Amino acid sequence: MDCVFCKIIKNEIKSEKIYEDEDVICIRDINPQAPIHILIIPKKHIEKLYQTDEIELLGKMLKIACLMAEKEKIKESGFRIVINTNRNAGQSVEHIHFHLLGGRVMLWPPG
Ligand code: 5GP
Ligand code: ZN
Repeated sequence: MDCVFCKIIKNEIKSEKIYEDEDVICIRDINPQAPIHILIIPKKHIEKLYQTDEIELLGKMLKIACLMAEKEKIKESGFRIVINTNRNAGQSVEHIHFHLLGGRVMLWPPG
């Protein structure tokens, strides 16, 4: 399958993995938008957030995002978790992922 995240999961493309278990990996984003920018990615190829009913997996990904925020020392200062879906939101990889962003002040509303 021609999916960059599936290739990263299979180690066919190099990445800076900072977490892995049987369901999820976390990598540093190749084009960081904040001092800390981590992607939380399920190993299962799911293209859109609305296409899955696996709420246990999605909940687990949120807990892992919080764990990464703690490890990266942005838990107390603050962090943002973003899920871009489809064109208007700027989803560029068709394999769901949460962005964990922190280490700087974030604007609201987002751009
Ligand atoms: P989206 O735009 O779909 O919300 O997020 C996709 C993210 O994946 C982008 O922030 C982009 O920088 C990141 N990305 C795309 N290709 C690669 C890659 O090969 N390695 C890593 N580490 N990140 C990638
Ligand atoms: Zn995939």
